[in-house]
Amino acid sequence: MTAIPTNQVCFRTLGHDAPSSLATYESLGGYQVWRRILKEKTPPEEIVEVLKLSMLRGRGGAGFPTGLKWSFVPRTSPGQKYVVCNSDESEPGTFKDRDIMRYNPHQMIEGMAIAGYVMGATVGYNYMRGEFIEPFESCERALKDARESGLLGDNILGSGIDFDMHNHLGAGAYICGEETALLESLEGKKGMPRFKPPFPANYGLYGRPTNVNNTESYASVPIILEKGGQWFLDLGKPNNGGMKIFSVSGHVNKPGNYEVPLGTPFKDLLAMAGGVRDGNRLKAVIPGGSSVPVLPADIILKTDMDYDSLDKAGSMLGAGSVIVMDETTCMVKVLARIAHFYFEESCGQCTPCREGTGWLSRVIHRIEAGEGKLEYLDLLGDVSNKIMGRTICALGDAAAMPVISFIKHFREEFAYHIEHKKCLVENRS
Ligand code: SF4
Repeated sequence: MTAIPTNQVCFRTLGHDAPSSLATYESLGGYQVWRRILKEKTPPEEIVEVLKLSMLRGRGGAGFPTGLKWSFVPRTSPGQKYVVCNSDESEPGTFKDRDIMRYNPHQMIEGMAIAGYVMGATVGYNYMRGEFIEPFESCERALKDARESGLLGDNILGSGIDFDMHNHLGAGAYICGEETALLESLEGKKGMPRFKPPFPANYGLYGRPTNVNNTESYASVPIILEKGGQWFLDLGKPNNGGMKIFSVSGHVNKPGNYEVPLGTPFKDLLAMAGGVRDGNRLKAVIPGGSSVPVLPADIILKTDMDYDSLDKAGSMLGAGSVIVMDETTCMVKVLARIAHFYFEESCGQCTPCREGTGWLSRVIHRIEAGEGKLEYLDLLGDVSNKIMGRTICALGDAAAMPVISFIKHFREEFAYHIEHKKCLVENRS
């Protein structure tokens, strides 16, 4: 794994001995914010204001402002409330949260404890996907050490504040990264998204008010409260505060996680990842995980890596999962792979998604196999547009957006497959 050794927020324990240990984290100032909050009984509204100023936006994909989200949970309502960390990280191309849990689990735990304090919740759950054995073990060790040091539990450090949390392994379903499916799964049910509203802030885990954030979001909180909301905002760009971990994969020389300021030009990020492999030309990039629209080289090379710039360029930052494709890539094959994935992962609750994802997958595979017709291209766009926005959760959009964008930007390649019954790229001499 590669990381940039400057201004690190979530990866600041890297380069130290035993990066995941409590001793390392505390030697870097870890848990000082939590201790201060417990001692001074910092008003929760004050904490929320700092987060709002920082413009920390949800690092799991949606990009919703974290401070605003925290303000939605009715902290003074009676009864149990919950804090949940979404560490499912199942979007193809994303591999940053597992490294936070491997190398800096205490920062995520401290962020969750602070969230529990702000929302009046005494219990937290860290939901990880089933394959995350090593991150799970690292988080289990970290929880044990935090408890033994009196940083979690009842009456923490004599403050009268209670908060404890638990790690939970899911069973590896993509859809459990959707927050309400995650809550269903955590309750022991089939991981299927719920209708919204009500939203988890009012009706979450076991029907109680619940805050759900991504691992990187929680892990960003302690250092924001330590150094200030303005400090974090200034690291990035207006409306796009702070550092962000980008998981760079595909046809680059040095794939890995890179923690850089939001607003870093894509070409700089590509250079950090060693450039395109074999000196090849860049062809296209999926900048936020397989569900977001693809961008051709001429657009992405002029784009900065932040929420607003990527939105303007016609794509999304998503979870910061940058999939780089060089000139040897067959875009029909890539789309066929993506379409099959969403078909496989649809939970089947709503008709447009259940039937539509299967239809998209079959038609794209037909094109790839040289059995397509030119009219399929408009039909694929038409069906995708009819899936978008008509489903319970965002998986419908996730399946539709790649189809629309691949055909928009690489229509010529799809048409070549259909007309010549072979690939334009793979048959190039
Ligand atoms: Fe399930 Fe798809 Fe509907 Fe989401 S959009 S609830 S995955 S059927």
